[in-house]
Amino acid sequence: MHELSLAHDMTRIIGNVLGRKVHLDRVNITVGPLSGISPESLRFCFTEIAKIEGFGEPELVINQTRAKLICLDCDTEYEAEDFYQGCPDCGSLSRKILSGREFTVDSVELEEGED
Ligand SMILES: [Zn+2]
Repeated sequence: MHELSLAHDMTRIIGNVLGRKVHLDRVNITVGPLSGISPESLRFCFTEIAKIEGFGEPELVINQTRAKLICLDCDTEYEAEDFYQGCPDCGSLSRKILSGREFTVDSVELEEGED
């Protein structure tokens, strides 16, 4: 499951940034609809890995963005929730992806009493 390795990467990155393992209260991330990541699966994996890795039981707050695409046939710019949604004007599936593949760890909040 690729969310499992993402969850491992997240705890490794957070540990590197903080320089040590502390209990986290909340982790805020952004996931685009074209990233191929299942938010629910990632939430499940991250909760488990965080606990195992010594980060406590942080709440994973997922900001799910919408994809921005531009139709290559009629130049309409539109938003989509997945890859299968075509241009709303002409129905074309040839388009350029402007955004929607993002996966970022935006911020972490430490538990009260830790800093
Ligand atoms: Zn179009």
